[in-house]
Amino acid sequence: MDTTTATPVGLVGFLCEVTEEPVTFQECQACAQRGAPGCPMVPAIIHDIASSIRSPEYANDLAKQAGAEVGFSATELLGCPRQYRLKKQHPYWEKPSGMYRMTFGSGYHAALSKYSAGIAEETLTWKFKLLGKSVLLVGTPDLIELKPDGWFITDYKVTGNPPFGRKVPICNHCDLEMYKGDDGLTCPNCGPLNPRSSAISRVYRPAQARSSHVEQVNLYALLIEKNAVRLVAKHNLEAMVAKHNLIPTESFSGGQIAYLSQKAVVRCDVQLDRAESMALLKQSLSALLSDTLPPIIDDADELWRCDFCAVRAHCEQLHGSPVGKPAKEISE
Ligand code: SF4
Ligand code: SF4
Repeated sequence: MDTTTATPVGLVGFLCEVTEEPVTFQECQACAQRGAPGCPMVPAIIHDIASSIRSPEYANDLAKQAGAEVGFSATELLGCPRQYRLKKQHPYWEKPSGMYRMTFGSGYHAALSKYSAGIAEETLTWKFKLLGKSVLLVGTPDLIELKPDGWFITDYKVTGNPPFGRKVPICNHCDLEMYKGDDGLTCPNCGPLNPRSSAISRVYRPAQARSSHVEQVNLYALLIEKNAVRLVAKHNLEAMVAKHNLIPTESFSGGQIAYLSQKAVVRCDVQLDRAESMALLKQSLSALLSDTLPPIIDDADELWRCDFCAVRAHCEQLHGSPVGKPAKEISE
């Protein structure tokens, strides 16, 4: 008889806010109910966080139902592929405070999903073959609308830190945005310029959506394309299609991210670029499907992910040295 017990992997509990020791979800809940001295958490929040954890096999389960070998959500595709792999191989724990923001956001998303003049929170899938594997891509856009000029995608991001518009210095010769270099205000072409120089003007740059959010909306556009005929039939959009001569699989009018903070809503336009989105899809899936463990993050704009990574210790152990911002500083 086989007496070995499988070691659990994935998110197996919380990391206590006070002791920083691993605890089970039940122990944490019981502790919160006893008053949890020194801890900011209250029992209802612990309960909400623990009960809203999505199965890590969510996309894979949908893949199995659809007859595909492996499934990925749009969010999984846009994260660190090494982290995705390590989370499937090792147990890990997260602080409730780290998960609080996500759960908080889900609450407002649920309220907004009640808006009925569009297609809200419809899960879309696309099955295809890549690198000899049958893959299911899964995504749930917050809101899809069919407008006279085509599909329009809205995604909500609940955040305490929305992007904002600002005045930026521009080099009049090159029409390029300047940056603060070691020698002051610098044009990428002309080099440092006197800040009072008439070669510099200041223009207003509206708030820009974050790159990973733009990529997410673009992946949703691919999913809508693959589900367009079904969406039109399911939501009785035939008259709209006929009236405006739309081609459901091709007519897209754009997208937006609505950043929702406590104080304001900041809307940022998203440009759709199908070719770029297909390239990103192939690149991400190649890393996720590779037989070897994907490499550590090297892109300076993505290093922040390591600061919030629950499997960083495993990652550094396998890498043999620090990762994230410290690794970049050492190599420079
Ligand atoms: S309620 Fe707070 S103090 Fe108690 S186990 Fe959970 S995180 Fe730790
Ligand atoms: S520490 Fe950074 S590179 Fe390593 S798995 Fe986590 S996010 Fe990826």
